[in-house]
Amino acid sequence: MRELVVLGTACQAPTRRRNHNGYLLRWDGEGILFDPGEGTQRQMLLSGVAATDLTRVCLSHFHGDHCLGLPGVVQRLSLDQVSRPVPVHFPASGQEYLDRLRHATPFHDVTDMPEHPVEEDGPVATGTFGTLSAHRLDHTIDSFGYRLVEPPGRRMLPDRLAAAGIAGPDVGRLQRDGWLVVDGRRVTVDEVSEQRPGQRFGFVMDTRLCDGVYALAEGADLLVIESTYLSAERALADRFGHLTAAQAGRVAAESGVRTLVLSHFSQRYPDPDGFRAEAAEKFGGTIVVAEDITRVPVPKR
Ligand SMILES: [Zn+2]
Repeated sequence: MRELVVLGTACQAPTRRRNHNGYLLRWDGEGILFDPGEGTQRQMLLSGVAATDLTRVCLSHFHGDHCLGLPGVVQRLSLDQVSRPVPVHFPASGQEYLDRLRHATPFHDVTDMPEHPVEEDGPVATGTFGTLSAHRLDHTIDSFGYRLVEPPGRRMLPDRLAAAGIAGPDVGRLQRDGWLVVDGRRVTVDEVSEQRPGQRFGFVMDTRLCDGVYALAEGADLLVIESTYLSAERALADRFGHLTAAQAGRVAAESGVRTLVLSHFSQRYPDPDGFRAEAAEKFGGTIVVAEDITRVPVPKR
């Protein structure tokens, strides 16, 4: 199962309808929590996400709307006796803030949370899920976005398997060894399959438009991107280091994104329809204006 669980969508101050940020990416067995803002623990409960589902935490930066929920999540992991390590990735320059959030108040500290400070662009973790990498963004303080890329695989083609007379356990044997002898003829896996590109997920939070945004968005099946403002407030976006919905749409169009998830909305806009309209002027793919406690599937390749 691969999906985004939207926990919160507000920047700066929460509203009656929008909690501070919070996003959980379910990716097979992984549960990667991005930017747990204040109230994330309860948003998880309302979304059906258990502390035991979390395998990793990624922080884009240390403004409160992106990390003040971390102490609650940290202590909940220990309360629920999560015994496997849950690594945390965060901008290295914010080490002192990470220290405070990690040990905000006394609690029985059970869960190991290895710290992975991010200093530069590049891979930060690899595993069966693929490669998780970070790219620097352009905000008022150090900010990094994250990108998950699955390696390409192969998709078996049933008609060609049938034509070659391969069925049952032989299919697994062929996938494992790369070739098989059927009735004296050698059949390679390439003959009966085609390449399946790996899925890609991008996460872009607080930033102005910069190279990092494009590096994170490139070919993403699902891109979560901040769109704090509408174009009328473009000057404010530049000044405070944010994007407009039109800029987010442009990035998606130029980067070959499939599903665009807009989030991190300023509380000055009571109605989110303007965000969709602005992004749709630039981008013809699927646009989701994120709402709290919703799920967005990662589109299949
Ligand atoms: Zn923010």
